[in-house]
Parts: sequence; C-alpha cells; structure tokens
Amino acid sequence: MIQPAIPSNESARLAALEEYKIMDSLPEMAYDAITRLASQICGTPISMISLIDRTRHWVKSKKGIEATEIPRELSFCAHAILEPEIPLIVPDMREDERFHDHPFTLGQPGVIFYAGIPLVNPDGYPLGSLCLIDEKPKQLSEDQLQALKDLSYQVVMLLELRRKHFQAERARAEAEEARQAKARFLSTMSHEIRNALSPIIGSVGLLAMEEDSLTPSQRELIELLEFSSQTLHTLLDEVLDYGKLEAGKVYLEEIPVDLRSLTEKVIQIHQPLASKKQLQLVKQVDTTLPEKVLGDPTRLTQILSNLLTNAIKFTQQGSVSLSVGLLETTPERYRLRFEVQDTGIGIPEESLKQIFEEYSQASLDTTRKFKGTGLGLAIVHLLLSLHQSQIFVESQQGQGSRFYFDIAFPKTV
Ligand code: ADP
Repeated sequence: MIQPAIPSNESARLAALEEYKIMDSLPEMAYDAITRLASQICGTPISMISLIDRTRHWVKSKKGIEATEIPRELSFCAHAILEPEIPLIVPDMREDERFHDHPFTLGQPGVIFYAGIPLVNPDGYPLGSLCLIDEKPKQLSEDQLQALKDLSYQVVMLLELRRKHFQAERARAEAEEARQAKARFLSTMSHEIRNALSPIIGSVGLLAMEEDSLTPSQRELIELLEFSSQTLHTLLDEVLDYGKLEAGKVYLEEIPVDLRSLTEKVIQIHQPLASKKQLQLVKQVDTTLPEKVLGDPTRLTQILSNLLTNAIKFTQQGSVSLSVGLLETTPERYRLRFEVQDTGIGIPEESLKQIFEEYSQASLDTTRKFKGTGLGLAIVHLLLSLHQSQIFVESQQGQGSRFYFDIAFPKTV
C-alpha cells in the first residue's frame, strides 16, 4: 500500500477548508440526498461525501457504511485530491499498486471498486471527494461519470452556500461590533461634554442674575449663551437617552398613573411656548377614561412631550391638540389611543418613513430653520416599541400632521 502524498499547496488548502466550518458538522438532508443519488445512478452499495483535513478523512454524508472518519493515511479520497482535475477511478483495487494490499481491500469492508470525484472549490482547492465503493470490480459509463461530476459540483455549491452564510454572519457581527463601538464612543463623548457644560450653564445663570450691572449688549450676549448652552445640553441628553434605549438598557416602570393629570401637566409644560407663537393648545380627554392605569409616567410624558414639542415647533399658526381616548376595555387592560395633531407645515410624503430614523429630518433646511437633532421621533419609536406599540403619522404638506399611537395599559388592582 502506498500512503497518500500531501498536496504541495496543503496549508492553503487546509485554510480554505477551514472557511466552510464543515468538519464535524451535523448530517444534512441536502448532502444525504446527493450521496443516495450517486449510489443509485452508479449502482454501488456504498457512497460518501468526504473531506480531508490535516489528519482525517471525515465523512459528511454516507450510504451503506458506518464509519464517520478514518485516519488520512488510510483514505482513498486523500489520493483522489492529489489530482483535482481528474476523477480517481480504480476498477479493481487488487490490480492497483497503491491499494492492492490496503487493509480495507484485504479485509472489511472489502473495497474492490473505488471512484472519487474531487470536490474542488472555486479557488481550485480540492477539499475532499464524492466517492463510490463496491465490493466487486466495476466500470462506470460515460453518463454515470458525467452524473457524478454534476453531483460533485452540487456538493461544492452547497459548501459555497455554507461559506457565504458564515461570511455574511461574520460581516454582520463585525458591523454590529463597529456599531456598538460607535455608540459607546458617542455616549462617552456626550457624557464628557455634558459634564463640562454643566458648570458653564451654572456660571451663565449666575451672570444673568446680575441684571443691574449688565449693559443691554452684555445681556443679549448672555441670553444667547444661555440659549445655546441649554440647546447643547438637551441635545446631549437626547443622544445619551437614545444610546441607552438602543442598547436595550431602558426598562419601563409599572406604577399607577393618573392620565388626566399627566396630560394636564404635559399641556402646562408646553403652554408657554404655544402662547409665545400664539397657537391654541387644546387638550381632549375622553370622559370614559379610567381613573388610573399601570404605566411608566416618565416615559409616557417623554413620548407626548416629544410629539408636542415638534407639533409646536413646526406650526406657525392655528392649533396643536393632544387627545386621549379609550379604544377598548378587556378584563386585564385598557387600550388607549393618544393623538397629537397640528395645523403646521406638514411632512412630505417621501419623508414620512424616514423621520423615525435616528438623526433624520424631513428636509435639508429643517436644521437651519427649526434646529433639532432628528432624535426626538427615533426616541418615540423606541419607547413605543418598549410598550409593544408603534407610532403612526398622517400628514399633508401645508395642512398639518397627526401622530397617533395605541397603548394597552394593565388595570390597577
Ligand atoms: P427634530 O425635531 O429634532 O428635528 P425629530 O426626530 O423629532 O427631530 O423629527 C424628525 C423630523 O420630522 C423633523 O426634523 C421634521 O422634519 C419632521 N417632523 C416631526 N414632527 C413634525 C410635525 N409635527 N410637523 C412637521 N414635521 C415634523
């Protein structure tokens, strides 16, 4: 018996094999179907899909044989891969000097006929072979040989699919890792900047209190400083909040919430801004609304506030309304609908979907005209996901917008 040689490009071949993560994987129907077909077409009792690693001939799929692996030195397929372009066909092993005294020929399983079609990957590396074994001498017809080549091509395609799957998974994992690194960086920077900003805001506040000793132009400058530093602070808060939400680090509270007083408070917070723009701020609360529900008042306030802030910001005249209605009562829950409607500039049809994405605004001049970060609605979207809910919007440019969502709150006991 002559032991199989080692291919000259062995280390590259082994590296290629590694990419498929196929060794020691579980049996799969797609490979088994090919082994069965090969056996049927060529009329042999035994068929295998084998892969050759550094030390082993490992069997991915087999018919008519028990062995799942054998040492590489004893493998016929390790001979087959030495000439990747040519099938290794041995009609009678007893007449071949490489195999005539091979223990598998002399003893069990009594291999007399062997045919191995190398499984050559697109880069030209032979990974193993699709092989057939019989206990008696045999010749393959041209058609049978062609069918075997076609089937081995199918095996390589299956392997390629597997490799692409792992490549895609790796790319996804790397992209996720990069995204997380970016989020961590953004969060750390926002923290640091916010910490540095706090004493600035404090000092500007103190300066502003010394009204008597300030000239009008100094007061103007201080007001500008106050406004800018507050805007920056809000932006940093939003970035941090969004980062926490996105990382799944925000959990909802479940405590009794009085929705009437919560909506009243939200309206009160926004009243000064609405009055400043001479907008009517309207609250409509269903009379059938339950006294209390179980919910997270802070997060609900944040959702409604974000929507109202936008509604007021993007409305020059007319009104902004907040309504809460009871949609349904089940034994355990109240299903409520919240709506924020305005008579503002509206949102172009093509922007309706993207406004809920982070850092996105309906049009390019929004930042210049209205300021903002493009994070408010992304935060609303994530907060509503935590409530197993989602936000809907209807809008007509120049007519106004209507944002609404439903939440099923548990009843208080
Ligand atoms: P920001 O308001 O900070 O820009 P948001 O995420 O809250 O960010 O909103 C994203 C964009 O959606 C806004 O920039 C604006 O273009 C559009 N938008 C949101 N609410 C309204 C509204 N009520 N009317 C018109 N446009 C709106």
